[in-house]
Amino acid sequence: MSNQFDVVVIGSGPAGYVCAIRCAQLGLNTAVIEQNVAESSQPLLGGTCLNVGCIPSKALLDSSHRYAEAAGHLADHGIGVGGITLDIAGMMARKEKIVAQLTGGVSGLLKANAVSVITGSATLNAGRNVEVTSPEGEVSTYTADHIVLAAGSEPAAIPPAPLDGDRIVDSTGALCFEEVPGRLGVIGAGVIGLELGSVWARLGSEVVMLEAMDQFLPNMDEQIAAESGKIFAKQGLDIRLGARVTDTEISGDGVSVTYTHKDATHQETFDRVIVAVGRTPRTDKLFSADSGVTVDERGFVFVNDYCATEAPGVWAIGDIVRGPMLAHKGSEEGVMVAERIHGKAAQLNYEVIPSIIYTHPEVAAVGKTEQELKSEGVDYKVGTFPFAAIGRALASGETDGMVKILSDADSDQLLGAHVVGPSAADLVQQIVIAIEMAASTEDLQLMVFGHPTMSEAVHEAALAVDGRAIHMVNRPKR
Ligand code: FAD
Ligand code: AMP
Repeated sequence: MSNQFDVVVIGSGPAGYVCAIRCAQLGLNTAVIEQNVAESSQPLLGGTCLNVGCIPSKALLDSSHRYAEAAGHLADHGIGVGGITLDIAGMMARKEKIVAQLTGGVSGLLKANAVSVITGSATLNAGRNVEVTSPEGEVSTYTADHIVLAAGSEPAAIPPAPLDGDRIVDSTGALCFEEVPGRLGVIGAGVIGLELGSVWARLGSEVVMLEAMDQFLPNMDEQIAAESGKIFAKQGLDIRLGARVTDTEISGDGVSVTYTHKDATHQETFDRVIVAVGRTPRTDKLFSADSGVTVDERGFVFVNDYCATEAPGVWAIGDIVRGPMLAHKGSEEGVMVAERIHGKAAQLNYEVIPSIIYTHPEVAAVGKTEQELKSEGVDYKVGTFPFAAIGRALASGETDGMVKILSDADSDQLLGAHVVGPSAADLVQQIVIAIEMAASTEDLQLMVFGHPTMSEAVHEAALAVDGRAIHMVNRPKR
């Protein structure tokens, strides 16, 4: 293998591997460097997303949902299921099989596109020289006209809760508990905490979530966040806001957690604790000081709107740069950068990136929240519609939640959509398409939605924006 490429991508997560595939499709001689190694000594591709993130968490969310359905809700349908058993090892094996299938798939795709895969830990030096240390300790140097940094992120740590890999774990540890913890503490009620807390709550854990902030899901639309909080509480998640963890102590087979709440100090004992306090970009050893790449005070690589760093020919994408830490955001940045390297004026609409919490029901959003529109002084219209009035939701026994649509009061332009409820992610994706196609709220009102579907809630919410929903009594508009 030559040491000279058109493009070298560092990191094979959803940002890096997608960028590499698109570069190769465009005829660029491309290599990906990945430091993770499988037991077989082969490179372990796919990054956080495929190995310890999106995919394994969704596998467990799905398995635990089915268990909870069988253990509880199927009786509502007149279905009796006796003698339900839980095989955690089997559940984990299923998850691992899915991960292996997908990471193997990435490997196959890179091979089919003639992307060279280099195993080792990479550091970018001056002059776009990349030094790679193999797992055996051998050092090689590669150069390219373009370098794409896609090193991703890792779980953030907090001093009061050091991980011991057994009782106190991060999200990766929480994806492989060997038994259901009796009492589970989750530090941080963000997206990852909620998803992993839900998995274990459904499997039988008593879950207490300790969240330092006073506000629940502060980046979400306030009304949807409040509605979601009520639904999660009904499901038995004990979410304590304004609860800042200050100390943990492992004793015997439990963990004692100290936290402050409204100036008082409290203590709780758990069998296990998940630390889910966010993620930090993996940029500390990624480049040398003379590489020309710069980072902000939190370690995110400085890039322009097109993911170009301050060093000529060096790009950065995915979790190591500004914007939401989401797999699909990184992948689309990867495509944009590949196109730009190839000379096209590609761009990414950062205003229209959907975000989803895969609880049950899901919480999903795109565009502006109502509080953002208020603070920006935008004259907006709002329409909401509850799933309780949707026939399909009733038929499925999934009546919790609502769709909320925000539109510009003058132009009728769609500005945001926020959903908690069944199929929220897919419903919000409809609005992503609508916004990207410059549809107005009236366009949504005029479209035909199949009956009976959850999508009818989108139609009705769009109608409600102008006080003309059919299947509820419309409130007088301002
Ligand atoms: P990563 O996926 O982190 O990949 C970076 C890769 O670079 C890694 O393989 C790493 O080993 C390699 N690397 C790093 N440094 C070097 C180096 N110096 N040399 C060589 N290789 C290097 N996002 C969603 O959109 N939807 C979800 O449902 C979702 N669920 C999640 C659930 C959990 C539990 C977690 C933890 C995350 C979840 N995320 C989700 C976030 C998502 O996983 C990340 O946003 C995404 O993986 C980031 O992609 P990336 O390519 O930037 O980095
Ligand atoms: P996210 O960034 O969405 O993964 O959410 C992480 C959450 O962890 C944030 O809401 C933080 O407020 C919360 N958090 C951070 N430190 C602490 C702490 N010491 N105790 C409780 N919650 C915390």
